Amino acid sequence: MTNTIQSVSIVVPVYNEEDNLPRLFDEIAGAMRPLDREWEALFVDDGSTDGSLDVLKRLAAGNSEVRYVAFTRNRGQSAAFCAGFDQAAHPVVVTIDADLQNDPADIPALLALFDKGHDMAIGWRRKRQDTLSKRYASKIANAIRNRITRESVRDTGCSLKVMRRDMLLRIPRFKGMHRYLPTLMKLEGATVAEMPVNHRERHMGVSKYGNWERAIAGVRDLLGVRWLQDRHFGYEIREKNR
Ligand code: UDP
Ligand code: MG
Repeated sequence: MTNTIQSVSIVVPVYNEEDNLPRLFDEIAGAMRPLDREWEALFVDDGSTDGSLDVLKRLAAGNSEVRYVAFTRNRGQSAAFCAGFDQAAHPVVVTIDADLQNDPADIPALLALFDKGHDMAIGWRRKRQDTLSKRYASKIANAIRNRITRESVRDTGCSLKVMRRDMLLRIPRFKGMHRYLPTLMKLEGATVAEMPVNHRERHMGVSKYGNWERAIAGVRDLLGVRWLQDRHFGYEIREKNR
């Protein structure tokens, strides 16, 4: 069964990315405008202390597809994603990082994969353009994550994903949950497809994560996700009167 062509909200978490935003929007627009579907770029400013919000206001003033939501203070990438899921105007949500490491040119192919009938289509970064230590940390983290959660997700840390918004609104929320989106969506019954995507170096701004803090938070979240899996229930209604 294929999905019908639906309108799309592109959700972008932003924390001190002022130098990346104009080019990011240009690239998103370049990828989306040729497609025959309605779309918006929804930027969530996660309490940036640089000029990111001013840049977003300028982009919004010049482009009708741009929307922004700004937090009062930094609440983390998961919170920024969730605010985007809440505020999105369209039934299909695409997530992408703001730092240009993900390539918006991959969005059309990922949408095409989603349209084949999946509830979720996710990218895995074919050639990681990160430091050696980050690449190793990510490899190990993915392996442990898959082991404990009995999954086989290649690269859950890749932000480039297409998902059904109605399902995103039903999954549990906690700090770090953005690294478990495939698993949390599967608990809701989602089918997940994967495809290789481009990955680029970060040229402007700095990474917001260190390997150690990510590893420590990771173990804690992992146990929580395993618990959620073990204690999860679904139900089917046989009949009801109204
Ligand atoms: N980000 C955010 N809030 C945070 C940390 C990061 O919104 O507290 C955003 C950040 O601006 C970027 C994305 O999340 O768009 C991924 O962050 P980053 O590129 O630093 O992660 P890395 O690629 O180093 O794993
Ligand atoms: Mg990055």
